[in-house]
Amino acid sequence: MVNAERLKSTFLDLVRIDSHSREEGEVARYIQNRLTALGLEATMDEAGAKIGGNCGNLFVRLQGPLAGKVEPILFCSHMDTVVPGKGVKPVEVDGVFRSSGDTILGADDKSGIAAILELVQVLKENDKSYGEIELLFTVAEEIGLVGARHFDTAQLKSRHAYFLDSEFVTSIGVGAPSAYRMTYRIHGLEAHAGMAPERGISAIRVAAQAINAMPLGRIDFETTANIGSIEGGAATNIIPKLVTLRGEARSHNPQKLEAQAEAMRRAFDQAVENSAVTIDGERVQARLEEERNLEYQAFRVAENSLTYRLAAEAGADLGLKMEPEISGGGSDANIFNAKGIESVVLGTGMMEPHTVKEFLRFEDMLNATRLIVNMVYRLR
Ligand SMILES: [Zn+2]
Repeated sequence: MVNAERLKSTFLDLVRIDSHSREEGEVARYIQNRLTALGLEATMDEAGAKIGGNCGNLFVRLQGPLAGKVEPILFCSHMDTVVPGKGVKPVEVDGVFRSSGDTILGADDKSGIAAILELVQVLKENDKSYGEIELLFTVAEEIGLVGARHFDTAQLKSRHAYFLDSEFVTSIGVGAPSAYRMTYRIHGLEAHAGMAPERGISAIRVAAQAINAMPLGRIDFETTANIGSIEGGAATNIIPKLVTLRGEARSHNPQKLEAQAEAMRRAFDQAVENSAVTIDGERVQARLEEERNLEYQAFRVAENSLTYRLAAEAGADLGLKMEPEISGGGSDANIFNAKGIESVVLGTGMMEPHTVKEFLRFEDMLNATRLIVNMVYRLR
């Protein structure tokens, strides 16, 4: 069945290939070569060209003898990594993989790719009684779920999808928040700070008032908000005319997300209102520009759904006590749920992803692989 040594060497091959977002081409080639050797054909879509990358999303369909008789399912992992992810030199000590300390490891999400490739090997070599399995390897997940957004889900037969892209192997990610990303620009009025301060409106001061007045941080158990960057001003002797702020808000509840974004907006509006001064008999005030983009939409998959039960029961067979998990972040699964494909997130054992301390216990990746193999055979 699952070949642990082969899984390990696939994982090591993958983490040694550089694949920052929009530069996934070599990883895609590796996957394609492995699949071609097994008689499968992987097709690449046009996402790469559309987003300025060197490669698109890679899609593969496996038709087992039970195709049409059992529910088709999709497994997905993303091919890109965060920075610093070039020249990864994996080190294994006592069954734990780490980087050499100056890069990430890239287990996020190459552990998922390795597990899926091992699944394919197992299906091709062993018991052939499986149905239809779809595999997707996306690009540019880490820079805003961009590849998944561009993937055409109309070609999918699966209504149930599994994204191998989180930490704990016994967790089934059934929920994630919606998120807004905002940019605010405050336009003040420039003036000499020493000679004519009364002829200026400080954009920095307006920003400070607004930030001080708005709800931020943890708003409630399912809602958070942050102003994450601020820049503006030119010199100490000039009343600043422009400040740009970037922030976000997340909530598992769409109404609360709207309310939070509106509360932030109102704080800016109020501060702008308060900035009004009279210059040469004319009333002038600062001006606000807001850009608000819905980055991804919340989802919640029921625990009595086939999607959840298949993973939970397949785990139980292996002695894994599977549990539902609600995440604080978005993933490709948000995009697929929004497109009508019921999707959950599975763990692979990747720990402390997005840091140079990232590590992976091989045993966890092995269990994640056994889990998806068992899921496929459970569909008989
Ligand atoms: Zn990831």
